[in-house]
Amino acid sequence: MARHQLSKSTYIRSLQCQKSLYLHKKRPFLRDKMLASQLAKFRRGTAVGKIARDLFPGGIDMTPKSPSQYQIKRSETLQAMADPQVSVIYEAVFQYDEVLIMLDILVREADQWRAIEVKSSRGLSETYREDAYLQYFVLKGNQVALADFELMYINENYILNGELNLRELFISESVMQEAEAHLTQTDSKISLAKETLELNKSPEIKIGPQCRNPYPCDFLGHCWKNIPKNSLLYIAAIPADKRFELFHNGIHQVNQLSENQITPLIREQDKALQKQSFTINNEKFLQLSADFNKQKLAFIKVLYNQPAIPVLQHTKAYSPYFLAISVVITDGLQQELHNWDCSENHDEWQSGFDFLASLSTKADVFISFKDSFLNPLIQSYSSGLKSVKIIDLWEFLKDSDFYVPLINTELQLDTICSFLLDKFTPLKDEAWLLKDLLEDPSKSREMVIPRLQAYASSIMALANFISDKIKTAD
Ligand code: SF4
Repeated sequence: MARHQLSKSTYIRSLQCQKSLYLHKKRPFLRDKMLASQLAKFRRGTAVGKIARDLFPGGIDMTPKSPSQYQIKRSETLQAMADPQVSVIYEAVFQYDEVLIMLDILVREADQWRAIEVKSSRGLSETYREDAYLQYFVLKGNQVALADFELMYINENYILNGELNLRELFISESVMQEAEAHLTQTDSKISLAKETLELNKSPEIKIGPQCRNPYPCDFLGHCWKNIPKNSLLYIAAIPADKRFELFHNGIHQVNQLSENQITPLIREQDKALQKQSFTINNEKFLQLSADFNKQKLAFIKVLYNQPAIPVLQHTKAYSPYFLAISVVITDGLQQELHNWDCSENHDEWQSGFDFLASLSTKADVFISFKDSFLNPLIQSYSSGLKSVKIIDLWEFLKDSDFYVPLINTELQLDTICSFLLDKFTPLKDEAWLLKDLLEDPSKSREMVIPRLQAYASSIMALANFISDKIKTAD
């Protein structure tokens, strides 16, 4: 049987950029390293897909052990469908028009089949719909008599009370009608992607907003390698579409713009760009950060677990709960380190509040970074902790027009510190820390806690660096 040319993932890649598809297939060695957070998302998706199988028990699993088994599993899927004893198939493999798909769940319904694709998200994105249209196209090409095609995803309002109730946890939405309506478009998109793969060199596609939309492309390093570091493409104050339009019209530097095109913010950002430094509205930052002048500050890093399938009683899907906390308290030149974790017994996660309450006598203000959970969790907890002031440094920076010329990088604490601070040791990605702690709580605690401490210390280093720069500027 002929090998496939496209899969669900390569097809979705082609919708974002044909060049990305070409490079992925023909020049994979040019790819950037995959972020740990992307790997974590992938693992979460697989776990949810497996749990959803319990709604349709007793199925035959067609998951190929390796790509060499795709064609065997494809034949076995067809054989299983022909066997009246088989009512459910997991990861059913189909191929049509050189596109290979693996459908999460296929359920027999009288003389028809119900196709179900499971998503670990709390809603359906455009990408998920496109993915479903492709699968429907392939199933239709295989003349599978479909009773329905459904996308199944997580019900964000479900609360775990006693046993996990899968019927309430998942929501199903039929997308068969819209997939049918999109058949011609899907066909054209497949043809375009296959034409790209026939090329003997990479398609001439210019860099553009598609490089980060809907996902950051993993060939950014390759396609952007000749863009000078001081290019106008790195000026965030110019909207993305406009930046690329100017760039492709030969305007590569801010000083090529006319005076009336240069706003004060663009000028400020360009100064930072030329010096490869940062810019911030000093006045706004000082106003917001008045609390930083307090004597005792606590810099805090929390590692949360946020399972797609709720594991703790009375929690919803994706509810965050504390897994480990590190705090650095400063008092003048003195520093104290405090750590807490419940990695061996997650049921005790609420004792994290007591830990924080015990520290609230030692510090007036807790400073976190990009932590949208901490404040709401503390507010939901009925204790004296409500008097604790939590400041998210990232929110302060954003509200103070903070800018670093790192357009193509996720602005994490790690990337900002690496860019701004001399001698900064990169932090281990949180997704890996979480994985380590969940897989082996006892062993990895020795490794995870010091790394969380490093995060808390980095928040402190960044806050001090910016405050010092502003004071020097004054
Ligand atoms: S970096 Fe941009 S132009 Fe290059 S392959 Fe990715 S999306 Fe396409």
